[in-house]
Amino acid sequence: MIRDRFAPSPTGNVHVGSLRTALYNYLFAKKNNGQFLLRLEDTDRTRYEEGAVENLLDALMVTGVVPDEGLFEEDGKIIQKGDCGPYIQSERLDIYKKYIDQLLENGQAYYCFCTKERLDEVREKQKAAGETPRYDGHCRNLPREEVEARVAAGEPYVIRLKLPEDHVVAFDDAVRGRIEINTNDLDDQVLIKTDGFPTYHFAVVVDDHLMGITHVIRGEEWLPSTPKHVYLYECFGWEQPQYVHLSNILNDDHKKLSKRQGDVSVGDFLKKGYLPEALINFLALLGWSPENEQEIFSMDELIEAFDLSRINKSGAVFDRAKLDWMNAHYIKELPIEELTGRMIPYLLDAGYITEVDVQNRMPWLEKVGELMRERLNYFAQVPEETKMLFDRNFEITDPESLDILKEETVPVLFNALVEKITESDVVDTERAKAILKEIQKEYKAEKIKGKMLYMPTRIMLTGEMHGPDLTLIMDVLGKEELLLRLERMRS
Ligand code: GLU
Repeated sequence: MIRDRFAPSPTGNVHVGSLRTALYNYLFAKKNNGQFLLRLEDTDRTRYEEGAVENLLDALMVTGVVPDEGLFEEDGKIIQKGDCGPYIQSERLDIYKKYIDQLLENGQAYYCFCTKERLDEVREKQKAAGETPRYDGHCRNLPREEVEARVAAGEPYVIRLKLPEDHVVAFDDAVRGRIEINTNDLDDQVLIKTDGFPTYHFAVVVDDHLMGITHVIRGEEWLPSTPKHVYLYECFGWEQPQYVHLSNILNDDHKKLSKRQGDVSVGDFLKKGYLPEALINFLALLGWSPENEQEIFSMDELIEAFDLSRINKSGAVFDRAKLDWMNAHYIKELPIEELTGRMIPYLLDAGYITEVDVQNRMPWLEKVGELMRERLNYFAQVPEETKMLFDRNFEITDPESLDILKEETVPVLFNALVEKITESDVVDTERAKAILKEIQKEYKAEKIKGKMLYMPTRIMLTGEMHGPDLTLIMDVLGKEELLLRLERMRS
């Protein structure tokens, strides 16, 4: 059975690159009727951030990248489910102890008492000599009695992996092919730190093995560490998993995606009103491509189409314009209740509406939603896009609009609009259409039609030259508001 995992460290907001890693693991597991695990790698206590785990679980839950096993949130509490727990590394210390003892016993690991000062000094010297900095093996062969005495005396230590000399470590990566490296080019990696916690490198191997992980799908930043992991599998006599290292997501300048060019965390995108489905669809295609030209995929379609062999070797550029296009596509498809529901928080936030409106004016708000359907790339644009509906005190300053209002037909049009709106019981879309048609017919002689009908009407009613369908706007504004706005134009 295929088992893969997402194993983040709780270090703050979830980067879109991490969500992509989680997604590929999820898709691969689902496609193969396998299992997708979520494990927390929290052994680096210095990087821990409050609320990070909740953040992570929220991001996965909202986007539908839900694990089969591991960590979950239930009633605001973090719980663990599955037969291979605990799934939080800091709760597995006794397990790591057992395996480090085995390595020490077999002479495959050793105690190292070197101080930070000594290590810095060695590193500086190596750098000055133009060598790659690495541990110089100072403690590799300390006599057992000395080690025991120093440990008993309470001297701080780490435990390092004892790499054999001139030994080739090899593994196959599904994206990059066969990789071989000589241990002479590797460092004696720290496995247990001074605080007694395992390093990521040690814990990840022990856990992936004990949790039955068959495929390790992760970011390419871990590729240089993989030979050390592979050697640990050798030491224990365990079968190594299939590695799949995903290329980085890049900024426009082809450097690794970073905050410099805009949002990078899943939370930021959701807050801006990108739809989870759109974000998932977009991330899926960032580093993987389907066999055909299809661009819009539901999660089920992604599962169906996903295939490790179509993962790209080169980095994919995070094209924000494409994300906007994709999100706009998903917004257009939303049922009106959902579209409106997603719009409301932004209207409340802008102070355009109150909770009372939400209680009492839902049909009207749904009309506003309908007006926005074709206009939004993401929901944070709602205040700007709806301003014309909620702010009647607009100023017309744009020279082109002012010129249009100076046309001699405008006063005639103005009076006709006031008259026809006043005469109407209600101004809904139908009536608005009829009003404009009647004016066109009745003022044929004055040539009030086409541009000279719609443009000045729109400008007088909204202050804008362009926008959503005018009759829909008139419907949403309603009779009273239309007259109030026209009255303002008199001055
Ligand atoms: N804890 C690592 C991270 O934060 C996981 C790397 C891996 O998947 O092995 O990305």
